[in-house]
Amino acid sequence: MQRIVIVGGGFGGLATAKALKHTSAEIVLIDRTNHHLFQPLLYQVATAVLSPAQIGSPIRGILRGQENTVVILGEVTGVDKDKRCVYVSNTDREHVPVSYDYLVLATGVTHSYFGHNEFEKYAPGLKGLADAVRIRNKILLAFEQAEAEEDPSRHRDLLTFVLVGAGPTGVEMAGAIAVLVRSTLKAEFRRIDPVSARIVLVDMAPRVLGTFAESLSKSAQQQLEKLGVEVRLGHSVDQIDADGVVVGGERIASKAVIWTAGVAPSPAGQWLKVETDRAGRVRVQNDLTVPGHPEIFVVGDTASLDQDGKPLPGVAQVAIQQARYAAKLIHSRVVGTPAPGPFSYFDKGSMAVVGKGFAVLESGKVHVSGVVAWLTWAAVHLQFLAQSSLRVSVFLQWVWTYLTGQRGSRLIVNHHGSEIGRTAAELAIKAAVSGK
Ligand SMILES: Cc1cc2nc3c(=O)[nH]c(=O)nc-3n(C[C@H](O)[C@H](O)[C@H](O)COP(=O)(O)OP(=O)(O)OC[C@H]3O[C@@H](n4cnc5c(N)ncnc54)[C@H](O)[C@@H]3O)c2cc1C
Repeated sequence: MQRIVIVGGGFGGLATAKALKHTSAEIVLIDRTNHHLFQPLLYQVATAVLSPAQIGSPIRGILRGQENTVVILGEVTGVDKDKRCVYVSNTDREHVPVSYDYLVLATGVTHSYFGHNEFEKYAPGLKGLADAVRIRNKILLAFEQAEAEEDPSRHRDLLTFVLVGAGPTGVEMAGAIAVLVRSTLKAEFRRIDPVSARIVLVDMAPRVLGTFAESLSKSAQQQLEKLGVEVRLGHSVDQIDADGVVVGGERIASKAVIWTAGVAPSPAGQWLKVETDRAGRVRVQNDLTVPGHPEIFVVGDTASLDQDGKPLPGVAQVAIQQARYAAKLIHSRVVGTPAPGPFSYFDKGSMAVVGKGFAVLESGKVHVSGVVAWLTWAAVHLQFLAQSSLRVSVFLQWVWTYLTGQRGSRLIVNHHGSEIGRTAAELAIKAAVSGK
């Protein structure tokens, strides 16, 4: 039996595995996390609307009914094209070779600080669940610190939130923080007025949501400003440190800076030693394979393919459609039927939410903003969640939050707490042993 190895259990990898359900082959899906993550709703975890478990599902659970598929928790560290194997590390074994007849790489992207990796310490990006919880802690802690601060002149700095990057994630985060302060937190503090929080969205581009039509960018910006968000465009961020940011030469004091600006692909191009685009994404052919290797496919955010003279965007729909295409092509080879024609992406459109009850939607010539776009956004996102239990739970949470303003997940969780505890205990034992 032939073996198809899929690396990544995100939108691309999971869709590939599901589309190979009826293929007579052994499918091995490897991911470094045990869960599939619905990234479009990460900002809702970061702003305490949803809990992490509402947007992530164990990959093993999603594929439990798929007899031909093995799920492995491990990190792929390299690919040997000649030996046809990937190397996988996990907690107790390193670089274990796993051989393949077909390989599908769907390893996505990570944050890019455009050469300023020193920014990462002060401005976390939003890519995984741990990032979202870290940002949620940062936002909620800012309010707690301000409430505890007797000197009112310090409240302003503690309650200034700066979002770097005015793409969909930055816009959605800024709108969600504005709603958080106006609804949920408004009545809960005594020394500070949460509504006085300053939310600044900065980008060097001339408009927010640069990939959308200009009219939609404009209406998104107006909506943000209505919510009290300061939109600063046309200036790059020169500096980010413990005290805030410097934008276009001006310092904005802030203890909560969030990076939503850029992404860099996974190292798939380096593993394969093949041509990449300027961003580092693997250049694939129009059947999504790597030149000279019809058995290696790259799909989703880490692949680079032009259509109609433009590169395909890094969105979930591209990853899913590419995954289904790659699976179809592999299936046809396994069973010996004619291969499908070249891959072609069908763009269903894009959406972004701005605060409560407002979204922008662009699909072909259709441009809509307001509550209709928001309802469409909600319906589409619910439909794409990986499991029906999540659809029900997210829907109920949204209705509850919409009606009451209450957020589901406002715990400040220090995931290193037990570590610190352990270290303290270890120190105590050490001191006891040495008699100090
Ligand atoms: C905050 C945010 C909001 C977004 N909002 C939207 C939206 O509203 N609409 C939209 O269409 N798109 C949105 N996107 C983009 C969308 O999520 C991506 O385009 C999509 O996830 C790409 O799918 P993928 O399979 O290529 O990568 P991913 O879904 O990122 O999956 C990659 C997988 O590979 C695994 N992996 C990576 N490296 C390794 C390794 N070395 N070994 C093992 N496993 C590995 C990862 O753990 C992960 O599970 C958003 C992205 C983010 C970050």
